[in-house]
Formats: sequence, C-alpha cells, structure tokens
Amino acid sequence: MQLLDGKALSAKIEANVANEVKNLKNKTGLVPGLAVVLVGQDPASAAYVNMKKKACDRVGFYSVTHEMPEDISQEAIENTIKMMNNNPNIDGILIQLPLPSQIDTTKILELVDPSKDVDGFHPYNVGRLATGLDGFVPCTPLGVMELLKEYDIDVKGKNCVVVGASNIVGKPMAALLLNANATVEICHIFTDNLKKHTLDADMIFVGAGVINLIKEDMVKEGVIIVDIGINRADNGKLVGDVDFDRVSKKCSYITPVPGGVGPMTISMLLSNTLKATKAHADERD
Ligand code: NAD
Repeated sequence: MQLLDGKALSAKIEANVANEVKNLKNKTGLVPGLAVVLVGQDPASAAYVNMKKKACDRVGFYSVTHEMPEDISQEAIENTIKMMNNNPNIDGILIQLPLPSQIDTTKILELVDPSKDVDGFHPYNVGRLATGLDGFVPCTPLGVMELLKEYDIDVKGKNCVVVGASNIVGKPMAALLLNANATVEICHIFTDNLKKHTLDADMIFVGAGVINLIKEDMVKEGVIIVDIGINRADNGKLVGDVDFDRVSKKCSYITPVPGGVGPMTISMLLSNTLKATKAHADERD
C-alpha cells in the first residue's frame, strides 16, 4: 500500500505558484487578488477561510475577506459581489458555503463573474466542465486529479465509483473522471446496496461525510481509494469516510486524512486564482 501524499504535492504546487507570482509581479506589476465572502459565525467555515487566507499570504497574493453577519440580506451580499466583479484588483471571488437559509445561494453563485469564479460553481463553468471545455473546475476534485497525475495513476478505462453526488465534490469529480475516459458510476444516499457497487471498483472516490462508510468487506484487493471526506471523530481527531486501518491493507494506493485531499483543495484554489489573473492580464493587453 502506498499513500497518496497531498501534503507533499501541495507544498510543491505552492512553491511553483509563489514563483510565478514573483515573476508576474516583476514583469507586469500585477498581483493576484482573491476576495472571500464569509457569512455568519460557523467555526468550520471561519477555519477554512483562515486557512485560505494564510495560503494566499504565503504565495504573495492580495486577499480580502468580507465578513458579514448571519442575518445579512440577499441584496447586501449581491452588492458586495457586484463590487468585486468590477474591482480590477480582484481576480478570484470565493463565496464560503453554506450560506444562511434566508439567502438564495444559486442566485448568489450565478452573480459571480465567471472569469472570477475560482471555485468553479457558476453554471457557466459547470457547463464547460460537463462538455470538456477549459474553465474553472471546483478545487477539491481538481486536486484529486492532480494527485493521481503525480503518482502516474491513469483512470482511462478503469471502473471508478464516486460515492457522494454534491455539486462541489461528487458531480464535478465524476465529470473529470469521465472526461479522462474512466467508466464512472455515481452513488449517493439513495443508492441501494452500496457494497455491490464498490466491490467491483478499481478506484473509489468517496466524499459523503460519513465516518467508516467504506469498510474492508466493501472493496477488492488492490483498489485505489481517494478519501475526500473530512469528519470530526468522537475523540476530536479528523477522519475521512474510510475505515482507514482495515481498508488500507487491501489498497494499492490510498489518501490519508488529514494530509491527502484537503491540502490539495487549497493549492488548487491558488492555482485557479493565478489562472484567473493571467487571463485578466491577457484581456487587458
Ligand atoms: P454534501 O452533504 O453536500 O453531500 C454528501 C453526498 O454524500 C450526497 O450526495 C449524499 O447523497 C451522499 N451520501 C451521504 N450519506 C451517504 C451514504 N450513507 N451512502 C452513500 N452516499 C451518501 O457534502 P459535500 O459538501 O459534498 O462534502 C462531502 C464530504 O467531503 C464531507 O465530509 C466534507 O467535509 C468533505 N469535503 C472535503 C473537502 C476537502 O478539501 N477534502 C472539500 C469539500 C468537502
């Protein structure tokens, strides 16, 4: 069994991004800018935003966080987004989800300028991914593909089972795998007999948010597993969706949690923002 080390790869990617930022600044004076909208006091969301901000600082990006109270109005968030859409110093806009229930999240995501949609959640970019065109791809599944590439793992023709079908993890994961010519099955909460599907899989990509969802008797010998889940166990530790100690013995490759997909998500946010900056610079030329 070999670990897919997302921590090591993300450090490498970060160093490359930092280097590119330095060159870009020297040549053009441009500095990539990322704006984050954080609504309410959810500690997990605040922690994620803080990690993203620190990563921006490490690579030399300009970043700004718009913190808003839980009872904020739809109009106030929309006005902030419009302002960021028009701000030439901002290349990427990230709306930390989930938003409170009084807010129409779809409308908010649709308002983000697709050229600044570094999370890849705007329907324009979702459509481009579905049709295999270049665009912004959600950071978590994009990071998974980068991790596979680093270890020379080709998904072409492989039976890939994606467990979880959210717009930010499972669906874009499945689209990327399909675009890379894998045979893809998507399972979710209503899937009958999950084991029947996972047992046949060459690769399993699980992002359901359920501790120990994938057990030893559900996978075949030699399987490759990417554990996207992040859960807080009773003992306070971060764990994924896979019963790691038992399942990993049957794997050829598996991601650890933490240190697997999580750090890759942050580095993909950095590379997506840099991509946006370059595209904006080309438009200005
Ligand atoms: P979500 O709640 O929006 O979606 C969960 C999906 O899993 C749904 O499609 C649901 O049908 C499916 N599911 C739930 N229980 C299931 C079960 N028992 N069997 C089969 N399918 C089941 O969650 P999300 O935002 O997609 O996040 C999923 C997990 O990934 C969470 O643990 C989250 O913390 C984690 N996550 C990690 C990263 C990262 O950077 N590693 C990024 C985003 C999300």
